[in-house]
Amino acid sequence: MARAVLFDLDDTLYNTTLQVRQARENAVKAMLAAGLDATEDEAFDALVKVVAEKGSNYTRHYDDMLKFLGVEPNSKLIAAGVVAYHEAKRAYLVPYPDTVATLLALRDRKYRIGVVTDGLPVKQWEKMIRLGLSDFFHTVIITDDTLEPKPSSQPFVKAAESLGLNPGDCVFVGDRLDKDIRGANKAGMESVLLVRGRHSSKKPSSEEDEPAWIVTRLADLLDILK
Ligand SMILES: [Mg+2]
Repeated sequence: MARAVLFDLDDTLYNTTLQVRQARENAVKAMLAAGLDATEDEAFDALVKVVAEKGSNYTRHYDDMLKFLGVEPNSKLIAAGVVAYHEAKRAYLVPYPDTVATLLALRDRKYRIGVVTDGLPVKQWEKMIRLGLSDFFHTVIITDDTLEPKPSSQPFVKAAESLGLNPGDCVFVGDRLDKDIRGANKAGMESVLLVRGRHSSKKPSSEEDEPAWIVTRLADLLDILK
């Protein structure tokens, strides 16, 4: 019987896909309102392209976006984009409606609970603090320079160890087959695919990506674990 339930963070405990889309759209709208000479589609596509090229943790998305659109460097436009992006990002940084209730129910049932996530550690903690979830977990493992990212089994095994458990005692819940499910399976955890967000249409490409369970709501975990 499982003794711990571990979770991915992005698109598992909150809607990251929606948050990012709304933040980008808000940034583009604000830049247009501040005088950017482009259509909304052109500006949005340019921003998406820059993020795809430079990664989401690059610090000069808007400078490059203007360059891409053939617009002279313009600090006011960049500031308008940055402010609007952050305002929407904060507004949409809320847990899924069933996240808190599910985590509390699992703790009531005496499960140890935790997070295993990739990303910049300070950014991932910032999200958990703003989500109001930072004190819920018995363990939080964020892959960094010392730990291979998912789908390596390393962070999953480390999470189990940090709880004094074997991977086989743990259930892992995540939205990505190629990261969460593959990594949890490799580590020997029971994997649960949460069908939510931008990866929700993907199908397992091999046996190692096959989840033990599939759910569409976190609350369904409470039935699986009965
Ligand atoms: Mg995720």
